[in-house]
Amino acid sequence: MRLSGKVAVVTGASRGIGRAIALRLAAEGADLVVNYSRSGEAAAKTAAEIEALGVKALVLQGDVSSREDCRELAENTIAKFRKIDILVNNAGITRDNIVARMKPEEWQQVIDTNLTGCFNCTQAFMRPFLRQKTGGAIINIASVVGLTGAAGQANYAAAKAGIIGFTKALARELAGRQVTVNAIAPGFVDTEMTGALTEKQREAILGLIPLGRVAGPEEIAAAAAFLAAEGRYITGQVLSVNGGLFI
Ligand code: NAP
Repeated sequence: MRLSGKVAVVTGASRGIGRAIALRLAAEGADLVVNYSRSGEAAAKTAAEIEALGVKALVLQGDVSSREDCRELAENTIAKFRKIDILVNNAGITRDNIVARMKPEEWQQVIDTNLTGCFNCTQAFMRPFLRQKTGGAIINIASVVGLTGAAGQANYAAAKAGIIGFTKALARELAGRQVTVNAIAPGFVDTEMTGALTEKQREAILGLIPLGRVAGPEEIAAAAAFLAAEGRYITGQVLSVNGGLFI
Protein backbone atom coordinates (compact mmCIF):
# COMPACT_ATOMS: atom_id res chain seq x y z
CA MET A 1 0.00 0.00 0.00
CA ARG A 2 2.60 2.52 -1.15
CA LEU A 3 0.00 5.24 -1.87
CA SER A 4 -2.12 5.03 1.25
CA GLY A 5 -3.69 8.42 2.05
CA LYS A 6 -2.86 9.88 -1.37
CA VAL A 7 -5.39 11.40 -3.77
CA ALA A 8 -5.01 10.68 -7.48
CA VAL A 9 -6.84 12.10 -10.49
CA VAL A 10 -6.75 10.12 -13.74
CA THR A 11 -8.20 11.68 -16.88
CA GLY A 12 -9.82 9.27 -19.33
CA ALA A 13 -10.14 6.58 -16.66
CA SER A 14 -13.30 4.98 -18.01
CA ARG A 15 -11.46 2.59 -20.33
CA GLY A 16 -8.10 1.24 -21.43
CA ILE A 17 -4.84 2.51 -19.96
CA GLY A 18 -6.49 5.19 -17.77
CA ARG A 19 -8.78 2.62 -16.20
CA ALA A 20 -5.83 0.30 -15.50
CA ILE A 21 -3.82 3.16 -13.94
CA ALA A 22 -6.76 4.19 -11.74
CA LEU A 23 -7.24 0.60 -10.53
CA ARG A 24 -3.52 0.13 -9.86
CA LEU A 25 -3.19 3.38 -7.89
CA ALA A 26 -6.29 2.40 -5.91
CA ALA A 27 -4.81 -1.04 -5.22
CA GLU A 28 -1.79 0.81 -3.79
CA GLY A 29 -4.11 2.68 -1.39
CA ALA A 30 -4.92 5.98 -3.18
CA ASP A 31 -8.36 7.56 -3.33
CA LEU A 32 -9.30 8.17 -6.95
CA VAL A 33 -11.01 10.69 -9.16
CA VAL A 34 -12.21 8.88 -12.29
CA ASN A 35 -12.63 11.34 -15.14
CA TYR A 36 -14.29 10.52 -18.45
CA SER A 37 -15.93 12.48 -21.27
CA ARG A 38 -18.56 10.18 -22.86
CA SER A 39 -18.40 6.66 -21.39
CA GLY A 40 -20.34 7.26 -18.17
CA GLU A 41 -21.33 3.65 -17.67
CA ALA A 42 -17.76 2.42 -18.04
CA ALA A 43 -16.53 5.12 -15.64
CA ALA A 44 -19.11 4.06 -13.04
CA LYS A 45 -17.89 0.46 -13.42
CA THR A 46 -14.27 1.54 -12.90
CA ALA A 47 -15.33 3.47 -9.79
CA ALA A 48 -17.21 0.47 -8.38
CA GLU A 49 -14.12 -1.72 -8.85
CA ILE A 50 -12.00 0.94 -7.12
CA GLU A 51 -14.36 1.12 -4.14
CA ALA A 52 -14.30 -2.67 -3.88
CA LEU A 53 -10.57 -2.24 -3.14
CA GLY A 54 -11.49 -0.29 0.01
CA VAL A 55 -10.65 3.25 -1.12
CA LYS A 56 -12.83 6.17 -2.23
CA ALA A 57 -13.74 6.89 -5.85
CA LEU A 58 -15.32 10.02 -7.29
CA VAL A 59 -16.57 9.97 -10.88
CA LEU A 60 -16.33 13.34 -12.63
CA GLN A 61 -17.45 13.90 -16.20
CA GLY A 62 -15.47 16.49 -18.14
CA ASP A 63 -13.91 17.02 -21.55
CA VAL A 64 -10.22 17.82 -21.05
CA SER A 65 -10.20 20.01 -24.16
CA SER A 66 -12.55 22.38 -22.32
CA ARG A 67 -10.89 24.79 -19.89
CA GLU A 68 -14.18 25.20 -18.06
CA ASP A 69 -14.58 21.41 -17.61
CA CYS A 70 -11.01 21.15 -16.28
CA ARG A 71 -11.65 24.01 -13.85
CA GLU A 72 -14.73 22.16 -12.56
CA LEU A 73 -12.79 18.90 -12.36
CA ALA A 74 -10.21 20.56 -10.13
CA GLU A 75 -12.81 22.39 -8.02
CA ASN A 76 -14.88 19.25 -7.41
CA THR A 77 -11.77 17.20 -6.62
CA ILE A 78 -10.58 19.69 -4.00
CA ALA A 79 -14.12 20.08 -2.60
CA LYS A 80 -14.27 16.33 -1.99
CA PHE A 81 -10.71 15.38 -1.08
CA ARG A 82 -9.14 18.75 -0.03
CA LYS A 83 -5.93 18.00 -1.98
CA ILE A 84 -4.32 16.32 -4.99
CA ASP A 85 -1.12 14.24 -4.81
CA ILE A 86 -1.04 12.56 -8.23
CA LEU A 87 -2.36 13.83 -11.57
CA VAL A 88 -2.28 11.46 -14.52
CA ASN A 89 -2.99 13.20 -17.82
CA ASN A 90 -4.07 10.16 -19.81
CA ALA A 91 -7.11 11.19 -21.91
CA GLY A 92 -6.35 10.85 -25.59
CA ILE A 93 -7.83 10.18 -29.02
CA THR A 94 -6.63 9.37 -32.53
CA ARG A 95 -7.89 10.75 -35.86
CA ASP A 96 -5.44 9.08 -38.24
CA ASN A 97 -4.86 10.30 -41.78
CA ILE A 98 -1.90 11.11 -43.98
CA VAL A 99 -1.03 14.80 -44.00
CA ALA A 100 -2.01 15.15 -47.67
CA ARG A 101 -5.58 14.22 -46.72
CA MET A 102 -5.81 15.35 -43.11
CA LYS A 103 -8.80 17.58 -42.45
CA PRO A 104 -8.13 20.63 -40.27
CA GLU A 105 -10.66 19.27 -37.75
CA GLU A 106 -8.75 15.96 -37.51
CA TRP A 107 -5.61 17.91 -36.72
CA GLN A 108 -7.35 20.21 -34.26
CA GLN A 109 -9.34 17.58 -32.33
CA VAL A 110 -6.20 15.58 -31.59
CA ILE A 111 -4.17 18.64 -30.57
CA ASP A 112 -7.06 19.98 -28.46
CA THR A 113 -7.64 16.72 -26.58
CA ASN A 114 -4.17 15.19 -26.33
CA LEU A 115 -1.96 18.26 -25.91
CA THR A 116 -4.12 21.22 -24.89
CA GLY A 117 -6.10 18.86 -22.64
CA CYS A 118 -2.90 18.03 -20.79
CA PHE A 119 -2.15 21.75 -20.35
CA ASN A 120 -5.75 22.59 -19.34
CA CYS A 121 -5.90 19.93 -16.68
CA THR A 122 -2.46 20.61 -15.28
CA GLN A 123 -3.11 24.33 -15.07
CA ALA A 124 -6.48 23.77 -13.37
CA PHE A 125 -4.73 21.81 -10.59
CA MET A 126 -1.72 24.13 -10.36
CA ARG A 127 -2.90 26.15 -7.37
CA PRO A 128 -3.46 23.16 -5.05
CA PHE A 129 -0.17 21.60 -6.17
CA LEU A 130 1.68 24.85 -5.39
CA ARG A 131 -0.16 25.71 -2.20
CA GLN A 132 -0.28 22.45 -0.32
CA LYS A 133 3.53 22.25 0.13
CA THR A 134 3.49 18.43 0.25
CA GLY A 135 4.87 17.92 -3.24
CA GLY A 136 3.24 15.61 -5.73
CA ALA A 137 3.56 13.77 -9.00
CA ILE A 138 2.28 14.67 -12.46
CA ILE A 139 2.41 11.86 -15.00
CA ASN A 140 1.65 12.59 -18.64
CA ILE A 141 0.84 9.74 -21.01
CA ALA A 142 2.78 10.38 -24.22
CA SER A 143 3.53 7.68 -26.81
CA VAL A 144 6.40 6.03 -28.64
CA VAL A 145 4.94 7.85 -31.66
CA GLY A 146 5.95 11.16 -30.04
CA LEU A 147 9.55 9.92 -30.17
CA THR A 148 9.61 8.23 -33.57
CA GLY A 149 6.72 9.69 -35.60
CA ALA A 150 4.34 7.42 -37.50
CA ALA A 151 2.98 7.74 -41.02
CA GLY A 152 -0.71 8.61 -40.85
CA GLN A 153 -0.39 10.07 -37.35
CA ALA A 154 1.20 13.52 -37.79
CA ASN A 155 -1.45 15.09 -35.55
CA TYR A 156 -1.00 12.45 -32.85
CA ALA A 157 2.82 12.49 -33.10
CA ALA A 158 2.86 16.29 -32.83
CA ALA A 159 0.60 16.19 -29.76
CA LYS A 160 2.65 13.46 -28.06
CA ALA A 161 5.99 15.13 -28.86
CA GLY A 162 4.42 18.31 -27.47
CA ILE A 163 3.55 16.49 -24.26
CA ILE A 164 7.20 15.47 -23.90
CA GLY A 165 8.39 19.08 -24.24
CA PHE A 166 5.65 20.24 -21.88
CA THR A 167 6.71 17.61 -19.34
CA LYS A 168 10.34 18.73 -19.37
CA ALA A 169 9.47 22.43 -19.07
CA LEU A 170 6.97 21.85 -16.26
CA ALA A 171 9.43 19.59 -14.41
CA ARG A 172 11.81 22.56 -14.25
CA GLU A 173 9.03 24.93 -13.11
CA LEU A 174 7.76 22.69 -10.31
CA ALA A 175 10.95 21.07 -9.01
CA GLY A 176 11.30 23.72 -6.30
CA ARG A 177 7.91 22.63 -4.91
CA GLN A 178 8.87 18.94 -4.89
CA VAL A 179 6.32 18.20 -7.61
CA THR A 180 7.81 15.71 -10.06
CA VAL A 181 6.66 15.76 -13.68
CA ASN A 182 7.32 12.79 -15.94
CA ALA A 183 5.95 11.23 -19.11
CA ILE A 184 5.32 7.60 -19.94
CA ALA A 185 5.71 6.67 -23.60
CA PRO A 186 3.85 3.41 -24.17
CA GLY A 187 4.40 1.36 -27.28
CA PHE A 188 1.56 -0.78 -28.60
CA VAL A 189 -1.05 -1.47 -25.90
CA ASP A 190 -4.10 -3.68 -26.18
CA THR A 191 -7.05 -1.23 -25.78
CA GLU A 192 -10.01 0.01 -27.82
CA MET A 193 -7.69 2.63 -29.35
CA THR A 194 -5.62 -0.06 -31.05
CA GLY A 195 -8.59 -2.42 -31.50
CA ALA A 196 -9.47 -0.72 -34.78
CA LEU A 197 -6.32 -2.02 -36.49
CA THR A 198 -6.64 -4.84 -39.03
CA GLU A 199 -5.06 -8.25 -38.33
CA LYS A 200 -2.47 -7.45 -41.03
CA GLN A 201 -1.54 -4.15 -39.37
CA ARG A 202 -1.28 -5.87 -35.97
CA GLU A 203 1.03 -8.54 -37.38
CA ALA A 204 3.24 -5.91 -39.01
CA ILE A 205 3.56 -4.05 -35.68
CA LEU A 206 4.23 -7.27 -33.75
CA GLY A 207 7.14 -7.96 -36.08
CA LEU A 208 8.74 -4.69 -34.94
CA ILE A 209 8.51 -5.41 -31.19
CA PRO A 210 11.60 -7.22 -29.86
CA LEU A 211 9.66 -8.65 -26.90
CA GLY A 212 7.28 -10.13 -29.47
CA ARG A 213 3.95 -9.11 -27.96
CA VAL A 214 1.77 -6.09 -27.28
CA ALA A 215 1.48 -4.67 -23.76
CA GLY A 216 -1.49 -5.06 -21.48
CA PRO A 217 -2.80 -1.78 -20.00
CA GLU A 218 -1.74 -3.00 -16.55
CA GLU A 219 1.91 -2.89 -17.70
CA ILE A 220 1.60 0.86 -18.32
CA ALA A 221 -0.18 1.17 -14.97
CA ALA A 222 2.78 -0.51 -13.24
CA ALA A 223 5.08 2.22 -14.62
CA ALA A 224 2.68 4.95 -13.41
CA ALA A 225 2.53 3.38 -9.94
CA PHE A 226 6.33 3.24 -9.84
CA LEU A 227 6.66 6.93 -10.74
CA ALA A 228 3.95 7.93 -8.26
CA ALA A 229 5.20 5.81 -5.37
CA GLU A 230 8.95 5.44 -5.82
CA GLY A 231 9.94 8.20 -8.19
CA ARG A 232 10.52 11.08 -5.79
CA TYR A 233 13.99 11.78 -7.30
CA ILE A 234 12.89 11.28 -10.91
CA THR A 235 11.66 14.33 -12.81
CA GLY A 236 11.55 15.56 -16.40
CA GLN A 237 11.97 12.03 -17.76
CA VAL A 238 10.26 9.97 -20.42
CA LEU A 239 9.79 6.37 -19.33
CA SER A 240 9.44 4.13 -22.40
CA VAL A 241 7.26 1.07 -21.87
CA ASN A 242 7.36 -0.36 -25.35
CA GLY A 243 8.75 -3.90 -25.42
CA GLY A 244 11.84 -2.57 -27.19
CA LEU A 245 9.87 -1.14 -30.13
CA PHE A 246 12.08 1.97 -29.92
CA ILE A 247 15.47 1.58 -28.27
P1 NAP B 1 -8.90 4.32 -25.15
O1 NAP B 1 -9.08 2.88 -24.79
O2 NAP B 1 -9.54 4.82 -26.39
O3 NAP B 1 -9.38 5.20 -23.91
C1 NAP B 1 -9.30 6.60 -24.00
C2 NAP B 1 -9.80 7.21 -22.71
O4 NAP B 1 -9.70 8.63 -22.84
C3 NAP B 1 -11.25 6.89 -22.42
O5 NAP B 1 -11.43 6.72 -21.04
C4 NAP B 1 -11.97 8.15 -22.90
O6 NAP B 1 -13.16 8.38 -22.18
C5 NAP B 1 -10.96 9.21 -22.55
N1 NAP B 1 -11.14 10.44 -23.32
C6 NAP B 1 -11.09 10.62 -24.66
N2 NAP B 1 -11.30 11.91 -24.97
C7 NAP B 1 -11.48 12.56 -23.78
C8 NAP B 1 -11.72 13.90 -23.43
N3 NAP B 1 -11.82 14.86 -24.37
N4 NAP B 1 -11.85 14.21 -22.12
C9 NAP B 1 -11.75 13.26 -21.16
N5 NAP B 1 -11.52 11.97 -21.44
C10 NAP B 1 -11.39 11.63 -22.74
O7 NAP B 1 -7.37 4.68 -25.28
P2 NAP B 1 -6.07 4.08 -24.56
O8 NAP B 1 -5.40 3.17 -25.50
O9 NAP B 1 -6.41 3.62 -23.21
O10 NAP B 1 -5.18 5.40 -24.48
C11 NAP B 1 -4.97 6.12 -23.27
C12 NAP B 1 -3.79 7.05 -23.46
O11 NAP B 1 -2.64 6.29 -23.79
C13 NAP B 1 -3.97 8.05 -24.61
O12 NAP B 1 -3.39 9.28 -24.27
C14 NAP B 1 -3.22 7.40 -25.73
O13 NAP B 1 -2.78 8.33 -26.68
C15 NAP B 1 -2.07 6.77 -24.98
N6 NAP B 1 -1.39 5.69 -25.69
C16 NAP B 1 -2.07 4.56 -26.06
C17 NAP B 1 -1.38 3.56 -26.73
C18 NAP B 1 -2.04 2.28 -27.15
O14 NAP B 1 -1.39 1.47 -27.85
N7 NAP B 1 -3.28 2.00 -26.79
C19 NAP B 1 -0.03 3.71 -27.01
C20 NAP B 1 0.62 4.87 -26.62
C21 NAP B 1 -0.07 5.85 -25.95
P3 NAP B 1 -14.59 8.55 -22.94
O15 NAP B 1 -14.87 7.25 -23.62
O16 NAP B 1 -15.52 8.84 -21.83
O17 NAP B 1 -14.42 9.67 -23.91
